[in-house]
This record gives sequence, C-alpha cells and structure tokens, in this order.
Amino acid sequence: MATINATLAGLTGAFSQPDTYLGVFEEVTKQNIQLNIVERAWAAWYLWMQNDILATGIMSFVMHEVFYFGRCIPWMIIDRTPFLNKYKIQNEQWECASLVLLSHFTVELPQIWLFHPIATYFGMDYGVPFPSIWKMAMHIAIFFVMEDTWHYWLHRALHYGPLYKNIHKLHHTYSAPFGLAAEYASPLEVMLLALGTVGSPILWVSLTGDLHLFTMYAWIVGRLFQAIDSHSGYDFPWSLRHVLPFWAGAEHHDIHHERFIGNYASSFRWWDYMLDTESGPEAAKRRRERKMAALKAKKAQ
Ligand SMILES: [Zn+2]
Ligand SMILES: [Zn+2]
Repeated sequence: MATINATLAGLTGAFSQPDTYLGVFEEVTKQNIQLNIVERAWAAWYLWMQNDILATGIMSFVMHEVFYFGRCIPWMIIDRTPFLNKYKIQNEQWECASLVLLSHFTVELPQIWLFHPIATYFGMDYGVPFPSIWKMAMHIAIFFVMEDTWHYWLHRALHYGPLYKNIHKLHHTYSAPFGLAAEYASPLEVMLLALGTVGSPILWVSLTGDLHLFTMYAWIVGRLFQAIDSHSGYDFPWSLRHVLPFWAGAEHHDIHHERFIGNYASSFRWWDYMLDTESGPEAAKRRRERKMAALKAKKAQ
C-alpha cells in the first residue's frame, strides 16, 4: 500500500512512528517549524494513517458531509428569521435529508474513494507545503469553467423527455428549492453530475500533471457552496451575482425550478446566454427587444 513518504511529509531527520495522532503531530512540528498548522496537521494525518488511499478517502468523505450540512445550517436559520423572509424568492419546506444521505453513502462514496488513486496516477501531489494561493485560485477558476460546461450540456440533455421522466424529474420535486435540495436527485444523476466536479480536476491533472489535493478540497468546498447557495431560494442585494453579472446564483436556478425550462448552467450565465436558453421574465423581455430591433432593421431596409 502506498504510504506518504517522509519527504512528502516534509521530514528531514529520523522519525519513529508514535502511537497517537498528537504524538505524530508533535514529531512533524519539531522538524517543520516553517509549515503552517494546517500543513503540519495534514502531514501528520498521512503519517499516522499509514495508508494514503484510506487517509484521503476518510478525509474527503468527512469534509463533504461537514461542508454540505454545515453550509445548509445558516440557510435553515435564515428560513426561521422573519426579518429575512422578504428576500425569499419562493416558499416551501424540506423532507429530503435521507435521500441526500443515501446518495452520499452509495454513489458518491466510490467516486470519493477512487479519486486519490486515479489522480495520483496522473501526478497529483498531496505532500506539504501546499501550493501558493494564486495557483490554487487559478486552478479553481479553471475547474469552475469546466464543470459549468459539463453541467450545462448534461443538464440540458436531462430535460429531454425520456431522460427527464426517468432520471431528472426527482430533482424537480421542489419547484421552490432550498439549500438542502442541491443534491436531492436520482443517484444516477448525482453520479453523472459529480463526474463534472471530480472529472474536471482529473482531466486537468492528466493534461498538465499539476494539481494538489488541497486545491481539490478547496474546489469541492467552493462547488458545494455554489450548488447549495444556488438552491437556497434567496436573492440578496449583496448576492455575488450583483457583483459578478456573469455569476448565475440563486435567481438563475430558482427560475429553472419554477419553469422547468431554460437556465441549465450551474455557475455562470454565459452558456444559456450564448445558446439562447435563458429563462424568466428578464430573459423574455430581452428576447422581445431583440425581435423588435430585428423587425425595425428589416423595415428600414
Ligand atoms: Zn433541471
Ligand atoms: Zn436544481
């Protein structure tokens, strides 16, 4: 079994394996004063586990659960705060945690587990120190663009009659979504969509050989927040889409759940804009204006 070696963990001197995690952490700390606490905790985790695939698998699974449900809690509190209700786009409540958990333990678990061996095969690094914040930000931005493209086409295909009826209909149970509903979908759909989230970094590392597992984690957290927030049902004056006009946000996906058509992309608005699949009153208005302008141009000829 591949075990992170001493160099990956930043060790230079002699190292005898202590029994407890804290013991390993102290050993790593002694030899690595230049590393920050997260890097030391990370290195100690791999040294202590002695099985890298298992170490990554457990860490990934726990991280996914903590951030998924953790990100939902603020939305549940907001739902119970009358003062913020005026920002809610639609109103309905939830009974879906069990299906979400079921797909976490069935279809997502194997992908989480297989990620480490596949990505390290293509040259993913998981040693310390971590990459610079700029490199991480660049990789994460690339993954957002890649995933959004995959999501647009797959989601659009899932709205095709038979595929919709057999797979995607379940996700549309809630015409007014809420955070927890982000991963409320057929296990097959969860698996196919997760392929965009997990497959994008794998494709990237297979082409460039440049990826760190910590960047992957930051990307997963970013993508989880994007998915949960876009299902939150809230469009605040301070929501990201008002700063970045090409960011989809809750307003974009909420309309998709309300009308069942258009707005197929996940993070950005450009695919729907370019291929004229935007939905909602604003998009309809723009479409009317375009038609009028074309008509006027024709008359002027
Ligand atoms: Zn849909
Ligand atoms: Zn949705």
